[in-house]
Amino acid sequence: MIQIEHLSVAYQQTLALEDLSLTIQGPTILGILGPNGAGKSTLIKAMLGLLPHSGKVLLDQKDLGQVLQRVAYVEQKTAIDFHFPITVRECVSLGLYPHLSIFKRKSKEDLQKVEDALKLVNLLDLADRQIGQLSGGQFQRVLIARCLVQEAEVIFLDEPFAGIDSVSEDIIMQTLQTLKKEGKTILIVHHDLSKVPAYFDQVLLLHRKLIAFGKTEETFTKENLHAAYGHEL
Ligand code: ADP
Ligand code: MG
Repeated sequence: MIQIEHLSVAYQQTLALEDLSLTIQGPTILGILGPNGAGKSTLIKAMLGLLPHSGKVLLDQKDLGQVLQRVAYVEQKTAIDFHFPITVRECVSLGLYPHLSIFKRKSKEDLQKVEDALKLVNLLDLADRQIGQLSGGQFQRVLIARCLVQEAEVIFLDEPFAGIDSVSEDIIMQTLQTLKKEGKTILIVHHDLSKVPAYFDQVLLLHRKLIAFGKTEETFTKENLHAAYGHEL
């Protein structure tokens, strides 16, 4: 269970998030929606403790920023250097390190976890390719596989489908459904409203303040969308 209590974030001039309070019960796939600049990325970063904020974010009663080993995060347009000379398999292996010192030899079990993750996102064929030689969608699948081997309970994805092919999008969404069945909680910042009912159990509509939060069928309504998006809709 994730509890957000009176969360606010201010950048120098901008109040980006104002007094959010809500409780997320997992397992679930939650869509975080709202127009550009609504504070979606800010919300994720504040939840992870990456930004100064007021208020609290708790994962099972503990400060979420203090239990980051239980959490995986793929940031928006990832900062990972695409040209960094490592292979797909090596990049996925990096997910082992929250649990493993880089100096420790990987066990057979760890190596198997990497192979299983590569298989799930359909990248076994490309495992030895350099990450700089992938399409955007393939690279996004590498990042999802890295989350898988990390075995996090909560996964944060910031616009994972931006600019990727529909095959990759389908593979990622199927993978996330599998993870949810295993008991995980997945939070996805998303902007394609047409896919919302198909993808998300719950939605959170944001526009600096919390506009609405709850089951998709109850929350993803015209009124709430207008309140969040206004003229942009
Ligand atoms: P979203 O992800 O919903 O598009 P963001 O969370 O990135 O929105 O941004 C929310 C608001 O905060 C926007 O007005 C944006 O311009 C502002 N903002 C984001 N990051 C910074 C920053 N590092 N410094 C100052 N303002 C920022
Ligand atoms: Mg953003």
